[in-house]
Amino acid sequence: MTHTTPPTCARGIHRDGTRPPVIGKSQLCGRCHTQFRAAVQELGDLWPALTKSQVRSAAASGTTQRVQSSNRIEAGSLWRPQVTGALDEIGDWTRRLIRILAADPRNHVTRWPTDPQVILYAIARPDAARYLTHVHELAPAFVDDALSLRLRANSVLDSRYVRRYPLPTDATCRYEISDQWDGSDEHPCGAPLVATVELEDAGRDSAIRCTAHPTEHRIPVDQWAALADYLEELRG
Ligand SMILES: [Zn+2]
Ligand SMILES: [Zn+2]
Repeated sequence: MTHTTPPTCARGIHRDGTRPPVIGKSQLCGRCHTQFRAAVQELGDLWPALTKSQVRSAAASGTTQRVQSSNRIEAGSLWRPQVTGALDEIGDWTRRLIRILAADPRNHVTRWPTDPQVILYAIARPDAARYLTHVHELAPAFVDDALSLRLRANSVLDSRYVRRYPLPTDATCRYEISDQWDGSDEHPCGAPLVATVELEDAGRDSAIRCTAHPTEHRIPVDQWAALADYLEELRG
C-alpha cells in the first residue's frame, strides 16, 4: 500500500451514489447523524397521533380514545393492530437506547424518562444522537433502526381497522417474552387476548391476538382447538 484512503461511512453507498468519509474516529458520516436525528424527532412527533389512532369506540364512531385509558375492552370497538404493534416496537427500541445511554457515564443520564415520546426527544438531542451515531459500536444499526421505524410508523398511520371482541374469560397471552436482551428472564406475556374480525370481509382474517403485541402474538386458526382447551381450563 502506497497510500491510504480515508475511511468511508459504514452504511455503504448513500442515496446520491457517494460514500461519504466518516466523522473523526467514528464509523459513520455526518449525513447519517443528521438523518438519525431527523428520524427520531419525527417518531416523537408522530407518537401522539399513533397513540390516539389505535382504538375507536364502537358507539361513538368518529371519536377516538386512548387504548391505555382503560383496561376494559369494549365489544366491537375498532382497532388498528398494526399501529399498536408499531408503537410496541418503537417503545422497546427507545427503552433499549436510553439504557445504552445511561450505561456510559459520559452521557450523564441520571433520570430515565418512561414516556417513549420524551425518550425519543431526548435521543434526538445533539449530544445523545452524537453518542449513538459516532461513539457507540452499534451506530450503523441504530441509524438503520431509526429509518426503518420511521418508515413503519408512517406506513401504519392509515392501516386498516378491525373490530375486536373480548374473549369470554380472562384469557391472557401465553407467548414467552423477555425484557432482557439475552432472553434470560423469559415469562408469559400476560396481556389480554381479543378476537379480531375484518370489517369488509368478515372471516377473511379473523384472528385471536394479544392486545400488547398484536402483530407478533397471534393465534392462528389451526391452534384454536388448543386455545379452547385452555379457556375450558380457566373456566374450571
Ligand atoms: Zn453515512
Ligand atoms: Zn402477548
